[in-house]
Amino acid sequence: MKDLVTMPDSRFVRVVCRKCKNEQIIFNKVATVVKCTNCGEILAEPRGGEALIKGKVVTTFT
Ligand SMILES: [Zn+2]
Repeated sequence: MKDLVTMPDSRFVRVVCRKCKNEQIIFNKVATVVKCTNCGEILAEPRGGEALIKGKVVTTFT
C-alpha cells in the first residue's frame, strides 16, 4: 500500500463566539489557544494537533 497524496487535513473554519457573537476565521489545527479578538473568550484549544473548537462553526473552508 502506498500513500499517493499526503494531504494535511487542515482547513479554515468560521467560528462565532458564543459570548459576543463575533465571527472569526481560524485554522482547524492550532498550536496555541485561540481567543476571541473581541471579548477574549476561548474559541479553540489545541488537542493533539486538531483544534477543539469551542465556538459555533458556521462555515468550513476546504
Ligand atoms: Zn467574543
